[in-house]
Amino acid sequence: MSNENSSKLYRQALQFIPGGVNSPVRAFKGVGGNPLFFKAGEGAYLIDVDDNRYVDYVGAWGPLILGHRHPHVIEALAAQLERGIAYGASTEAEVQIAEKICQLLPSVERVRLVTSGTEATMSAIRLARGYTRRDQIVKFEGCYHGHVDGLLVKAGSGALTLGTPDSLGVPRAYTELTHVLPFNDIEAVHQFFDTRGDEIACVIVEPVAGNMNCVPPVPGFLEALRESCTRHGSVLIFDEVMTGFRVALGGAQAVYGVTPDLTTLGKVIGGGLPVGAFGGRQEIMELIAPSGGVYQAGTLSGSPLAVAAGLAMLELVSEPGFYSKLEARTQTLLHSLGERAAAASVPFTSNCVGGMFGCFFNTEERITRFSQVMAGNLDHFQTFFHTMLDNGVYLAPSAYEAGFISAAHGDREIQLTLDAAEKAFDKIGS
Ligand SMILES: *Cc1c(COP(=O)(O)O)cnc(C)c1O
Repeated sequence: MSNENSSKLYRQALQFIPGGVNSPVRAFKGVGGNPLFFKAGEGAYLIDVDDNRYVDYVGAWGPLILGHRHPHVIEALAAQLERGIAYGASTEAEVQIAEKICQLLPSVERVRLVTSGTEATMSAIRLARGYTRRDQIVKFEGCYHGHVDGLLVKAGSGALTLGTPDSLGVPRAYTELTHVLPFNDIEAVHQFFDTRGDEIACVIVEPVAGNMNCVPPVPGFLEALRESCTRHGSVLIFDEVMTGFRVALGGAQAVYGVTPDLTTLGKVIGGGLPVGAFGGRQEIMELIAPSGGVYQAGTLSGSPLAVAAGLAMLELVSEPGFYSKLEARTQTLLHSLGERAAAASVPFTSNCVGGMFGCFFNTEERITRFSQVMAGNLDHFQTFFHTMLDNGVYLAPSAYEAGFISAAHGDREIQLTLDAAEKAFDKIGS
């Protein structure tokens, strides 16, 4: 398998783009080697600039739940292109997608479109602060909510840590307002809220953590957040940028039956185009400008192209049985991966919800905590990643990212993946 053209492009990219990539997760820092450059996607496959074909489990980091270039999405985009790209004014389609989002997510009574997930979480937090007239917020270890200043807080181990910035350029004063608690630790939530609850504007959480590999909530965790926020007048924000329309039609809030005050969306709702959204209780959302005093705006918000792609995608995922089929396929894949790992005596376990999943190489025990994820065997992951890549399977180049399956992943693609995995596990086990 030649990577000559990718290597050449990477060398060129390094001369003009910092680190050669436009988003750090695309670099192969976590696995070694150089990133691949792609020229096409088709269904479940990505094709790189050296004409290698890969079964794709990154799916543009989540959005491509229908696979690449789904004809229904392409047609919707083509039809919109005939009518224009952007107007900077209101359209009928944005009303339709807002109505659809409100129907599918009953907790969302009003919704505003933005251009990225980061913008959605940033706006939701400003809104929660404006609504509660409080400054302090709570997030969880290992949860990522975009590159918002106050959310780039180092995940501290143990109970609660006062935030220290995770990135240069983030004023300490911002992150001092951010409290970090351990994900899935119900006791820590109760303890924290008992002493500080009345100062907290909002709790933001990924209801299924997907940025520390894939870690579902333990029973009672989301319920504890709901109860604590209600008792102390804090706003509960579910960051469903990844899980929205990915784990179920109604998002994680439908799967676990816990209702947030605000929800942030992104990834899948744009069908692969840059889009995000935040919405929730009318009483809170009405505080957003121009109806209220919390400022939020965007030149290209509600982009007609992104909305067209999103509406086309929502139409297809709304068809009966879409998510049960997707989930069944994910479970088949992970179950079969587990069998092959066991056959090669490689310690392996996995998590999945709907169309997202995670593989862990340290242990066979159930993974529910950030510390367990961090204890994973990175050597095994690297061997797994590169052997899969060499055998035509593209996984996220990091042990801390979730994997994504699409409706285009059929029996053939699963089999190809399992054949590659057999080789990878043999290599790890030997
Ligand atoms: C990807 C992601 C974001 C950030 O979205 P961008 O579009 O990359 O800004 C925020 N929250 C979660 C949970 C995400 O997975």
